[in-house]
Amino acid sequence: MDFGLVELTPEQKAFAAEVQRFLGEIVTEDVHRHERETGDGFNADVHLALGSRGWLEPDWPVEEGGAGLDPVCCRILELELQHHGVPSITAGTTSMVWKAVDRFAQPDLRDELKPGVAAGTVRFCLGYTEPDGGSDIAAAKVRAVRDGDEWVLNGSKMFTTGAHNCQYTFLITRTDPDAAKHRGLTMFLVPLDVDGVEIQAIQTFGGERTNLVYYDDVRVSDRYRLGAVNDGWTVLRGPLDEEHSMGTVSGGIADLSLGHSYLRVLEPALEAAIDWALTERPDGTGPADDPDVVTRLARIATDLECGIVTPGPMGRVKGAEVLVEAAADLVDLVGPLGLLPPGTEGVPGDGAIDFAHRFAQGTTTYGGTVEVFRTIIAQHVLGLPRPNYPGSKKFLQAGRRDARGAVQS
Ligand SMILES: Cc1cc2nc3c(=O)[nH]c(=O)nc-3n(C[C@H](O)[C@H](O)[C@H](O)COP(=O)(O)OP(=O)(O)OC[C@H]3O[C@@H](n4cnc5c(N)ncnc54)[C@H](O)[C@@H]3O)c2cc1C
Repeated sequence: MDFGLVELTPEQKAFAAEVQRFLGEIVTEDVHRHERETGDGFNADVHLALGSRGWLEPDWPVEEGGAGLDPVCCRILELELQHHGVPSITAGTTSMVWKAVDRFAQPDLRDELKPGVAAGTVRFCLGYTEPDGGSDIAAAKVRAVRDGDEWVLNGSKMFTTGAHNCQYTFLITRTDPDAAKHRGLTMFLVPLDVDGVEIQAIQTFGGERTNLVYYDDVRVSDRYRLGAVNDGWTVLRGPLDEEHSMGTVSGGIADLSLGHSYLRVLEPALEAAIDWALTERPDGTGPADDPDVVTRLARIATDLECGIVTPGPMGRVKGAEVLVEAAADLVDLVGPLGLLPPGTEGVPGDGAIDFAHRFAQGTTTYGGTVEVFRTIIAQHVLGLPRPNYPGSKKFLQAGRRDARGAVQS
């Protein structure tokens, strides 16, 4: 890993100052309150304001709605967006899906959508997970059946985050139930305002809003198909690799892992705990007089830094696991005071510890669980073979075992 510092040019420094000024203006306390109350991961005013600067797709050329930024300025922007706590879930899913739309959509659809993606008026969410399970995306059951120039969709998708703020969902469907699992899938960009789509809100323990989306005889023009019929897995690969932090390194700067964004919520929680530790009791002592307290806070600070700088899929695992452990430790250290809701008098960091603890729980799951990521790391980073799980074809062939792992006589 290269920890070399990037020396900013005067232009890049000026750009950083401009981003800070602009975000300082648009990311108001109301934006943070809205996000706390809704858990949307999206704020329309901020999203459109970023679009107006070309900062939703900052590396796109200016004439295509981007800002023509170099990789260093893109990273400056990315870090400032995180630092200012800009709700960015829908911006992230839109960018991920766009790459598949750009490559696999029919040219007229691609050209129609591109300006809206850059401006922020066209947004995409991810329709992969179903009520039966999410890790095994290729087991998707939502049916798409061709009817002339249209497709008829039936089924439901669980956890379609942002569906209520998006115009289209990037939907994986089963078009050939008789083909091998990965070969009978087709991807669609499904408009979310058509008859038969019903979006039902799910509010998580972590404060996030996500959705259960029902598709009941939804008719979609063949125009919205991405890639070839039954070749959906090819279309899905790019966005999936990006979500799994398996993207390519651009401009020599390693991609920030998903874990980096998770750890954003640990920073204010740690600061809140430090303030708490430095608060004097009436007898003049304070929590920071206890060596155990300061050691634990220092350990969290160390883990936080390790998580932030760990790139790729390892960073996603590290970030989630550091957050879960550290947030639990902060709750243990600070006690009930740390769990009081925002706005309560005397609550450290206006509820940052409670928020971090609740938010932490989902981070080991969405975008692929940490268990699944360990397999990805083993295979794609370490070059190890596919695991030999009980029940897998390889396992059954290798040992003449039954699905529970017992050796057959
Ligand atoms: C807040 C939130 C937002 C989400 N947003 C979206 C979204 O926008 N779009 C979307 O499509 N999905 C979304 N998801 C779904 C998420 O991607 C899935 O929850 C995740 O992929 C795991 O699927 P599952 O919950 O069905 O668990 P399952 O797949 O049923 O897994 C259950 C358990 O088995 C383990 N397991 C399963 N397979 C393996 C394996 N091969 N190796 C080792 N362990 C394994 C898992 O690690 C887990 O512990 C979201 C989830 C949450 C909680």
